[in-house]
Amino acid sequence: MVMNAPRHHDVVIVGGGNAGISLAAKLQRMGCRDVAVVEPKKTHHYRPLLSFVGGGMATLDDLTRPQERCIPDGAHWYAEEATAIDPGRSVVTLAGGRELHYNDVAVCPGSRIDWDAVTGAEEAVNTPTAATNYLPDMAEKTWAMLSSLTSGRAVFVISDRHVPCAPVGLKPLFMAADHWRRTGVLGDVDIELLVEADRLVNHDEADRELRAAADRYGVRVRTRATVEAIFAVSRTMRVRTPEGTDDLTYDALYLAPPHRAPDWIADSDLSTEDSGAFVAVDPRTLRHERFPRVWSLGDVATVDTLPSGGALRKQVPVVAHNIAAQRAGRNLRHYDGYSVAPVTTSRRELLLAEFDRDGRPEPSVSTPDLARPRRSTFLFDRYLEPQIYWHRLLKGNVS
Ligand SMILES: Cc1cc2nc3c(=O)[nH]c(=O)nc-3n(C[C@H](O)[C@H](O)[C@H](O)COP(=O)(O)OP(=O)(O)OC[C@H]3O[C@@H](n4cnc5c(N)ncnc54)[C@H](O)[C@@H]3O)c2cc1C
Repeated sequence: MVMNAPRHHDVVIVGGGNAGISLAAKLQRMGCRDVAVVEPKKTHHYRPLLSFVGGGMATLDDLTRPQERCIPDGAHWYAEEATAIDPGRSVVTLAGGRELHYNDVAVCPGSRIDWDAVTGAEEAVNTPTAATNYLPDMAEKTWAMLSSLTSGRAVFVISDRHVPCAPVGLKPLFMAADHWRRTGVLGDVDIELLVEADRLVNHDEADRELRAAADRYGVRVRTRATVEAIFAVSRTMRVRTPEGTDDLTYDALYLAPPHRAPDWIADSDLSTEDSGAFVAVDPRTLRHERFPRVWSLGDVATVDTLPSGGALRKQVPVVAHNIAAQRAGRNLRHYDGYSVAPVTTSRRELLLAEFDRDGRPEPSVSTPDLARPRRSTFLFDRYLEPQIYWHRLLKGNVS
């Protein structure tokens, strides 16, 4: 037997996260019999629950499943990293050296934290007074840090540089503020929110609701605020706003940090100067700008909207249909840039901001108005949505 002999698959999917597994299952439902998934991780995380771990309302166990239970039956799983894609030869190279030939390839290895983007950020999160729940390993520490604070300054920082579903970075803030209110220390905690974007979420009504909630907890909100550097030893950060630059001290620091594409994507032919190291697809068809048998979706693709799991509910069927349509010479479907940000405003209520690529509201139901905080929406997001994820979305039940 030849180890690492080249193999051929009809469709190779690089990355078995939300996008990759849902797409593999959807393709199988549509009759594709030879799908391979390249995914090195042995466990699969339902990442939206990480925000609830950061807010002390879920555990890591609640969001973790063995990967082998997520890979669809009948799909071939390569449990290693892809290191390169050669669109000219239609080949994916794996870390162990094996080459996988494909008819079509879907590229969805997600994005990762860009620690280099903020001087001192990585050093800071390795101290007890700073944390992020954008890494599963640190999510529990986030709540340990926030819940043990009884006075002083808590600073929450939300970058807008490719952060997956960035407004959900506000969830731990509101869950912590409500905790401080309930435990009677809210008046002793000075809460600062630094948001790099010019608003909290790309949806007028939801933005108003979130600002009103912040007001109720006495949060000082600054938008267009970029953290340039963090000095862990002195627990200080340098913040740039349109008004100038100032230094801010903290007793607890929460980061929704900048993200970037994996380096091997940035170094490949799949990205262009304009795509900023992400995979350069037509944001409507999700087909590569230059290589028609290359598709991309999820956090690594230039989808020209807020990257989110909710957005994948629309992207996955578009890619699956377009692969089939292109083969049959039919017209390709278009993705309208739908995305969604579910944000808690307390430990009881949550609102849902849903919008299209142009920022126009795109509610999934006409009534009730989900952009207002509700108990029912909170319960849906915390308890029902994870079940929908495991039992429907990862099973390709999207249309
Ligand atoms: C803290 C947090 C909270 C969130 N909350 C929400 C929310 O409430 N609602 C919402 O809609 N969205 C939310 N999101 C966003 C959502 O989780 C992402 O948009 C979604 O997971 C993107 O899916 P993906 O498959 O593109 O990337 P991922 O889910 O990151 O999956 C990428 C996969 O590719 C694999 N991979 C990486 N490199 C390679 C390689 N070289 N070869 C092979 N495989 C590779 C990785 O191991 C990973 O399994 C949240 C994200 C985070 C981090």
